[in-house]
Amino acid sequence: ASTPLDSPTIFDKIISKEIPANIVFEDEQVIAFRDINPQAPVHIVLIPKVKDGLSGLSKAEERHCEILGRLLYTAKLVAKQEGLDDGFRIVINDGPKGCQSVYHIHVHLLGGRQMNWPPG
Ligand code: 5GP
Repeated sequence: ASTPLDSPTIFDKIISKEIPANIVFEDEQVIAFRDINPQAPVHIVLIPKVKDGLSGLSKAEERHCEILGRLLYTAKLVAKQEGLDDGFRIVINDGPKGCQSVYHIHVHLLGGRQMNWPPG
């Protein structure tokens, strides 16, 4: 049986500090931590602390506009904190064809090397 999209994920355990993560930023709404399987010298995952049905971007509703903006703005702050002054990449994977593996919306911040376009 497939897992319902509103089920808890590993990210809930990171939010609750039940499992350790290398947290680089945290406020009331957003937590950002280093990816366990980094795809670049800097690879940080930013997530909302409250999922509110947002298992992925494809599930976004009007009420999520504020947190979606907050995630992107926080990504910019963390990029600055990480010294990514020459550029960085933001990625949101959605659904099976987008290679999403954790169904709690998240923004990837990648940097510290030259990125390529188009991505694979
Ligand atoms: P997705 O593939 O869904 O876009 O991204 C999920 C990301 O979360 C992956 O890059 C994966 O490496 C990362 N990830 C999965 N589980 C953990 C974990 O327990 N700790 C950390 N730090 N990252 C994780």
